Order: sequence, then structure tokens, then C-alpha cells
Amino acid sequence: MLLPVVIAAGAVLVMAHVAPFRFLLDAMHRDAAVWRMPVSGAGKPIYLTFDDGPNPTATPELLSLLDEKNIKATFFVIDEYVTEETSPIVRRMFAEGHCVGQHTGRRWLSLRSPAHIADMLLAGAQKIERLTGHAPSRHFRPHAGWRSETMFRGAARAGYTIVGWSWMSWDWVGFRKRTSARVARQVVRHAAPGKIVVIHDGHHRNARADRTYAVEATRRIIDELRTAGYTFHTLCQSVAPDRQISAPQRPKVRITNDEGDCQRPDTRSDRLRRGIDGIALLPGAAIDENVRRVSMPTHSLELARLVKSIVANAGTTC
Ligand SMILES: [Zn+2]
Repeated sequence: MLLPVVIAAGAVLVMAHVAPFRFLLDAMHRDAAVWRMPVSGAGKPIYLTFDDGPNPTATPELLSLLDEKNIKATFFVIDEYVTEETSPIVRRMFAEGHCVGQHTGRRWLSLRSPAHIADMLLAGAQKIERLTGHAPSRHFRPHAGWRSETMFRGAARAGYTIVGWSWMSWDWVGFRKRTSARVARQVVRHAAPGKIVVIHDGHHRNARADRTYAVEATRRIIDELRTAGYTFHTLCQSVAPDRQISAPQRPKVRITNDEGDCQRPDTRSDRLRRGIDGIALLPGAAIDENVRRVSMPTHSLELARLVKSIVANAGTTC
């Protein structure tokens, strides 16, 4: 009698972390997880997203296709693949009006601490900005959608939204070879307003994977969905305005004490320096990032680390 209950509970627990669709953890973090975009009015918006690039063999071709079709999309790039060599590709994404979010090829990232996740996202954003001159948007797509409570907490601390994809809107076609025709058929057949489509322009283990099928599938998908009345949007255009972060509007950090008085993160200040070093932060400290207010316990090493990385990444204000 007990065994089926244990098995069912175990299955729910596993699914909460790996389900390729909105599930338990996403429902618990409703504001921090996106698996489908909201739709208002009679339009038919749809969202193309590309994972695992930048891939020097496929991404430039894909960008040319999007330019030819006058379509904006969202790219989830893998940190390790953003290098001096590939930075012109990522720069081009920004220049041509696409949305650039962060992705990872690390499946077990879901086991890491919130501090690790927050540091990774902020360091990744800093690297992209250093190499391209543009800050990425605050969207993070975990590898294969593997997520966890700690990942949600880490992403929230860094001000990030976790992005999945919509049911059956991916370029995985059972256990069959991906061809442009099969992928396009699958995406078009399951298209609906607000859906987030995933196509892989790269591969998490092969930085230069042959993704010819992806470019060709994208061409078919655009043509067929356009004929069906769909319009194409990026996740940057459609999130709430206060989540749109671009280089000229970098977030400002405001650190306040219990009374709500602003504390300048002056490194000459003993109290703050000690806080940043992780010994003790200002009593009841909160970080008001103009994106969201994050309140955390005092004397938290994680908080101190976070303050340090946010202060390093953004301007501060009072
Ligand atoms: Zn991936």
C-alpha cells in the first residue's frame, strides 16, 4: 500500500526538477519561471529561441536568415562558447536587435548553491558585456530544463527569470534523426499564440556542431507560421518593462539598512567593507535593484557575495 505512494511521490519529485514543461517548481516560483508567454488581444505572437550557440558554423547563417525575413529572436548562449573568436557573432545579435540570454551545458548545475548560480549568472553577463559592449538580458535557460529550488533562489538573487519552452515546441523529434522537414512539421503542428519555440543552433558538447537542419527548419517555420498569421517576438520585448536591462540602463543597486536609509557602498566604510567581506552586513540589509527588492538575512555569506558581485556589475545609488 505504501510502496505506490512512495513511488508516486518520488516521480513527482523527479518531474519537478526535469519535466520538459511547466510543473511544480515553476508553479511555486510563478514570477520567476516562463514556459509560455502571456497573450492579450487577438494577435498571434510566437517566440523563436535558439540554444547552445554561438556556433561559428551555423549562427551567422541563422542571423542572415532572420535578417532576410526581418525577424527578431532570442539567443540563449553558452558561457564557454562566448570567446574573443565568437564575440563578433554575439555582437551582431545585439546589433540586429535580437535578445541575448544565458544558457549552460551543465546539467548538474541544479545541485549547486544559490550563491554559485547567482555568481555564475552575474559573471557570465559581465563577460558578455566585456566582449560585446552589450549587457545580456536577464533570462537564463538551464540545460535540458533541469532546475531546482536552489537554482530558482540563485536566479532570483541575480534578478534573472528562468526560461523553459512550450509543450512540443522543440526540435527534438522522438528518437529519429532531426531533419529540417521533421523539425518544422513538429513546431508548426503544435504552434499556438504565446508559445516559446526552441531550436538548437549549437550543441552543448560540440562548439562547432553541424546545424544545417536548424537553419533550414527555421526558414520553413517562419514561412509557414507567417502564412498562418503569426508574428515573431523576442523575450526581451515582451517581458515587463522593468525587466528590460540594456547597456545604457544598467541596474543601480541601493543598499538600505533596517530603517530604509540608503547606505553608500563606500569601500572606505568599515561596516560595509566588513559586510562585503562576508563578516557582517548592515543590519537587516536589503538590496533594492530597481528590478526587484531582495531581502535576505543578515550575517549571510551568500548575501555578502551577492552584494560584492552586484556592486561590481552595476552602479550604486542612494
Ligand atoms: Zn542546451
